[in-house]
Amino acid sequence: MDSYSSRISALIEQFARLPGIGRKSAQRLAFHVVNMPKEQAEGLAEAILEARNHVCYCRECYTLTDEELCPICQSTARDHSVIMVVENARDLAAYEKTGKFEGVYHVLHGAISPALGIGPNDIKLKELMQRLQKDVSEVIIATNSSLEGETTAMYISKLIKPTGIRVTRIASGVPVGGDLENIDEVTLLRALEGRTEL
Ligand code: ZN
Repeated sequence: MDSYSSRISALIEQFARLPGIGRKSAQRLAFHVVNMPKEQAEGLAEAILEARNHVCYCRECYTLTDEELCPICQSTARDHSVIMVVENARDLAAYEKTGKFEGVYHVLHGAISPALGIGPNDIKLKELMQRLQKDVSEVIIATNSSLEGETTAMYISKLIKPTGIRVTRIASGVPVGGDLENIDEVTLLRALEGRTEL
């Protein structure tokens, strides 16, 4: 580490703070960046700042967007009465890739985890309940099949049940503990089609 110039060390330091990036990868990325054509490095720095400064939550579904309403919530071709609840924006992207889901989404930004001290108020659950005041026919719970995902699914279903709105859970063809984003589209579709009533 100390054998690098302080500017390279600083860059390595920044990369090493990113999720899933170890020391070695951070070094590899830093050297890659300093060897980039200058315009490419500027493009990267600018894209990071632009995204950081302009991306916000959609006021309806809470996915990340750079408009007040994301393109899915804006779309009149989508069925706004069917809401699929996912843990994060990556899971939303995974379902969108199947091209078969015609409803809209709700992004929780996490899952309930007593072990990690994450409670119902720490995720976008109130916001989901507020959306149910409108004309909603079904809520499909597509949280992960991890302990946290299942806990969250149970909690949500208990909250929604009294409203009389149909609550379903995607089928567990999804490997236990598996992140939705790592599952192939066929499996995701099968999980959606095989959803069961809660
Ligand atoms: Zn939206």
